[in-house]
Amino acid sequence: MTSIATLGSHCSLQVLKGAKDEGLKTILVCEKKREKLYKRFPFIDKMIIVDSFKEVLDQKCQSILEENNAVLIPHGTLVAQMSSEEIESIKTPVFGNKWILRWESDREMKEKLMREAKLPMPEPVTDPSQIEKLVIVKRQGAAGGKGYFMAANKEDYNAKRNQLISEGIISKDETLYIQEYAAGVLAYLTFFYSPLREELEFFGVDQRHESDIEGLGRIPAEQQMKSNKVPSFNVIGNSPLVLRESLLDEVYKMGENFVEAAKRVVAPGMNGPFCIEGVYDENAKFKSFEFSARIVAGSNIYMDGSPYYSLLFNETMSMGKRIAREIKAATESNQLDKITT
Ligand code: AMP
Repeated sequence: MTSIATLGSHCSLQVLKGAKDEGLKTILVCEKKREKLYKRFPFIDKMIIVDSFKEVLDQKCQSILEENNAVLIPHGTLVAQMSSEEIESIKTPVFGNKWILRWESDREMKEKLMREAKLPMPEPVTDPSQIEKLVIVKRQGAAGGKGYFMAANKEDYNAKRNQLISEGIISKDETLYIQEYAAGVLAYLTFFYSPLREELEFFGVDQRHESDIEGLGRIPAEQQMKSNKVPSFNVIGNSPLVLRESLLDEVYKMGENFVEAAKRVVAPGMNGPFCIEGVYDENAKFKSFEFSARIVAGSNIYMDGSPYYSLLFNETMSMGKRIAREIKAATESNQLDKITT
């Protein structure tokens, strides 16, 4: 019997609940400090207790996963806590494409794939001296936008960078990525591509709530002006969004272009869940600043199914359950190789 395994964090609960609902065995790689939390959930069949998630790379952990015919579901915590080399060295079959996770983590590769997919993007700025309008400054592969800041010109950039260095939030030799700030309505578009059915599904949209940039909008300008704190974009949670129906065609096109581009650039392509992240401007034009090449935590909103999946499935279908169903179908038809790397 196939088991579904994942790290105890991010979206592990809905991944394992979905797997259980599909009749698969569930395994959680769980840090000791979170054991009490995860023991509350009866759908977790087995826990592998570790001191740190990196132990998933050790022979001991990999052997347990192998004995249980496990497929590992990668999520944001795996990407944030392990290097691309470490992820690529995992022997357990990884759902989707573990090779594309490098393209998610590396800013230059990320931009290359997004261009290949013809996603409309905010312009990158190569040097602080070229900042002419509001920009957002990002760290490499930063988890949750911590240490990001906005700048209006070179002087502003230098002042904020120096402040963050003195506060120990960023380091002096860190290469920062500067990008034009795109104003509008945030929308994180989640898809699922099934290589078995060769079909793209649009799962849903979420919004991220980020502190403390969001909190800043709740205080009057007078107090904002007196604060010299550099606001960060640390994700705290997510909420649902539905789009104007007239925007859906374009959404599918972007998803399809991304799948096609990934097939050309990083075999076997963008299999499984992924997210295109960006902003709709005043003309309802989308600009994408980011993608995630695996399940995103925003899908946790839709544990009982998303509005768009209720159009495609006559049952409640979470992203976790959708992943499990794909694995089940692949196992039954002997095509696990097609959906894992
Ligand atoms: P990222 O790490 O690229 O997902 O960025 C973290 C957060 O920063 C996003 O969720 C947005 O709120 C914000 N953000 C990133 N890039 C841009 C941009 N070019 N324009 C406006 N907001 C952005």
